Amino acid sequence: MTEIPAAAPVPQPAPLPQSRHLATEIPGPRSRALQAERLAQVTGGFGVALPVFIDRADGGILQDVDGNRIIDFASGIAVTSVGASNRRVRERAAAQLERFTHTCYMVTEYESFAQVAKWLNGHTPGSFGKRTALFSTGAEAVENAVKIARSATGREKVLVFDEAYHGRSLLTMAMTAKVNPYKLNFGPFPPEIVRAASANPLRSPAAGQGPQAVAAAALAAVEATLAEHGAGNFAAMVIEPVQGEGGFVVPAAGFLAGLRGIADRHGIVLVGDEIQAGMGRTGTLFASEHEGVAGDITLSAKALAGGLPLSAVTGRAELMNAVHPGGLGGTYAGNPVACEAALAVFEAFEDGSLLANARAIEDAARAALAPLVEETSVVAEFRGRGAMLAVEFADPGTLLPRADIAREVSARCHAEGVLTLTCGTHGNIIRLLPPLVTGSELLEDGLQVLRNAILDVAGRAGASAPAAQPAVL
Ligand SMILES: *Cc1c(COP(=O)(O)O)cnc(C)c1O
Repeated sequence: MTEIPAAAPVPQPAPLPQSRHLATEIPGPRSRALQAERLAQVTGGFGVALPVFIDRADGGILQDVDGNRIIDFASGIAVTSVGASNRRVRERAAAQLERFTHTCYMVTEYESFAQVAKWLNGHTPGSFGKRTALFSTGAEAVENAVKIARSATGREKVLVFDEAYHGRSLLTMAMTAKVNPYKLNFGPFPPEIVRAASANPLRSPAAGQGPQAVAAAALAAVEATLAEHGAGNFAAMVIEPVQGEGGFVVPAAGFLAGLRGIADRHGIVLVGDEIQAGMGRTGTLFASEHEGVAGDITLSAKALAGGLPLSAVTGRAELMNAVHPGGLGGTYAGNPVACEAALAVFEAFEDGSLLANARAIEDAARAALAPLVEETSVVAEFRGRGAMLAVEFADPGTLLPRADIAREVSARCHAEGVLTLTCGTHGNIIRLLPPLVTGSELLEDGLQVLRNAILDVAGRAGASAPAAQPAVL
């Protein structure tokens, strides 16, 4: 056996320059060497968006082991909203590390767990009395929301939506829409999951007739699906208020409010999966606020603890307390270091500047990228809310997805030191998730690289799409 390498020295306090810098090609020689070792040691089951090894990260910059400074349009998939080495997060987590790392909250307790719960009870949508349960991952939060809804209603079925993403555990895979790569060869899946149409303004049967018509068509489809399976058999309906992996789809205005009404009429627990869209990403603390809708249960994870693993289920007190004592938990659920990090994230949101920056990011991106819909024939839509934004590539008229363009644009951005991610059922969407602390100059630089890459690739793009390939994330 080889020895485990010694811990890297504590990074120097010198701030990471907030500018893009290419020291080598990307990936550089050191990243390529480390990648060879990875391939020799790590399962091939993990994909990677950009095989570059990171040495330091802060603000809007990832610095790799070759000294390249890459503009971060990913935030580790919407996690490092307050920056990947936020001072408050480091200090609170470090202080907790000095005191203790773990007790297991089901064995002995610590104060920060209830403090995190109190903040979430006070800040998630809905003015009703709430309780919160903490876990570690987003998938765990989704699974526990289903457990709670079933326990509270005595019903079994769960309604989910087209393009939904809810995780990679067995139940959440079943709830996720896209087969490749998430579900391929991993079945059979748990039963009682039913899927309904969502209100995708670009691809709805009522597309082009305005948001009201799109929402109405989707709501009618939801009612039909519920009727088919017996509305009274549904414990929960789970919806992302802005869909994440499925393509950054902002549902047509009125759709979420319509779901709220349907859930109320049939006694179904409405669960807002805000794991990607929540915690300030869209310019409000929770994305449901844009539509004035409150789920009976709201799920948080990703950006909740500034990069430490923490997730939360926050919901109506009577639902959350319907579960028998001991029915919920987990060894690492609400780990104390992660709880302290979450409290630091809450402090960072206090003065409103992060939310304002999310909205400023939207304004800058809209100015740089929205004109591409007119300037090119293959940018079908620029969309999103706040700092959760996407460009969808499709053939004009037919809307045939162009994953090849998304891939090529992304590859160019990567080569120039801008980390973009693709998403969507067809992999034909580039999504932007910059940290909310990204400075305006850095943002503008990254946007111009992306804009020029799109103009370049779109200018040469033929009318027909080669066979689609699965995205790795
Ligand atoms: C990422 C994500 C999950 C799963 O979270 P994990 O921490 O990866 O388990 C669930 N729902 C949504 C909307 C997500 O974006």
